[in-house]
Amino acid sequence: MNKIISVLLISLMGMTLNAQKSDKAIVKKNYDAQSMKRHVYYLASDELKGRNTPSVGQELAAQYIKKEFVQYGVKPVAGSYFQDVPMRLAKPMAEGNIKIGEKSLNFPKDFIMMDAENVAMDGELVFVNYGTAEDYKTVANVEGKIAVMLCGSKSESNPRMWFRMTDEKQQLAKEQGAIGVIELFHSTRFPWKYIAGRVSKPQVVIDVSANKMGALPHFWVNASEAEIVNLFKQPSTVNIETKGIDNNRFNVKNVVGMVEGTDPKLKEEYIIYSAHYDHVGVGAPDARGDSIYNGARDNAAGTAAVLNAAANIAKHPTKRSALFVLFTGEEKGLLGSSHFVDNAPVPLEKIAYCFNIDGAGYNDTKVITVIGLERTTVRNHFETACKTFKLKAIQDKMPEQNLFDRSDNVNFARKGIPAPTFSLGITSFDDEIIKYYHQAGDNPNTMDYKYLTKYCKSFIYAGRLIANDPAKHFWVKGDKYYDAGVKLYGQP
Ligand SMILES: [Zn+2]
Repeated sequence: MNKIISVLLISLMGMTLNAQKSDKAIVKKNYDAQSMKRHVYYLASDELKGRNTPSVGQELAAQYIKKEFVQYGVKPVAGSYFQDVPMRLAKPMAEGNIKIGEKSLNFPKDFIMMDAENVAMDGELVFVNYGTAEDYKTVANVEGKIAVMLCGSKSESNPRMWFRMTDEKQQLAKEQGAIGVIELFHSTRFPWKYIAGRVSKPQVVIDVSANKMGALPHFWVNASEAEIVNLFKQPSTVNIETKGIDNNRFNVKNVVGMVEGTDPKLKEEYIIYSAHYDHVGVGAPDARGDSIYNGARDNAAGTAAVLNAAANIAKHPTKRSALFVLFTGEEKGLLGSSHFVDNAPVPLEKIAYCFNIDGAGYNDTKVITVIGLERTTVRNHFETACKTFKLKAIQDKMPEQNLFDRSDNVNFARKGIPAPTFSLGITSFDDEIIKYYHQAGDNPNTMDYKYLTKYCKSFIYAGRLIANDPAKHFWVKGDKYYDAGVKLYGQP
């Protein structure tokens, strides 16, 4: 090796080591030992009544987070600490009928309504495969017609995700000039009865119509019989009459804050530190008569960790800029994060990494479970950070739970942004987890704050290492979201 190069390399290595050392010192020396307890005890207090979406308690939590940001010197984003998220509480329709040829379909046995209010319409059908942007390049014009499509996409076979794709599909159809959307549902994983049952209960969803001028009538049709699929795939006309969804519209808030980076070039990029601050509110009382689902583990603890990261980084900014985002509506189906990625205050390709924190509970205080540990190129930073605080970073031990796709990180992942979720030490869904997970007993006084402090410190330290590492962070080769990453950022 050339001598000059080797000297250069050694000094570069030295610089990296120094940076790591000082990051470690910054976390250790600037940590308010009482902060975890203070934040968790407030956010998960009975006064906040479980931070349901929407509720007064959640609004109080949002104001609390903002107040903390102001104190730390964290800046607002696009002029505000709040990003409004329009939602609606949709009470399902009572009755309805779709006539196609000789066939008459009834609600909810044969179809359900995903969106729109009262409907009385006739329309021509055009089949558009999955109704993705790609599909519209090859299918017949849908202008003034009803777009018929299969649920999901070529690569997405999970009905949970199909639900989340409905807004995007409706929007695409609308851009093409369609007057309605019919999705054909067929899955062996979830029977129609389950799907219909779920949609037949009032549910909170993103209000697409709020910023996109009125929703299209949007239906899912039970297509478990080939006959139905064939009927809808043919060009024909339908008559639809339904008593529509009764919508109660409201706004809730994602809370956002920013700290500018120190490196003249890297500061153009952002690291997101995120957690959902909502929970499930008030519900059925448990054996003790407690009906407030305080959500201390899920996710007052994660929210508190993001607040601590914000305090730390505001005092000692990292090379890359930092965006702190606390999501609303996670428990209603990852709604706040879904709205955030579709209305991000900075271009998505400038978001270098999303470091999400969320937890169901813990049954092992020697470890941190990083959901997606092995899936992005910064595994070493998680391992270093956790080890520093005498914890071990372990990967997801319960792949059958599909946890990666069940927290806010997945909305970033689907856009291509590397996004794991840092979680409390969980090794299986055992009794210790079930005892607290979405239970009234998930109270602040049942947690181990020594462990929580280590959880929080390793989160901040890992975040600093990622934010200061000049290397480009990416998905590991072969990951499900690798191609989405290439699409967003170009080749790594
Ligand atoms: Zn959670």
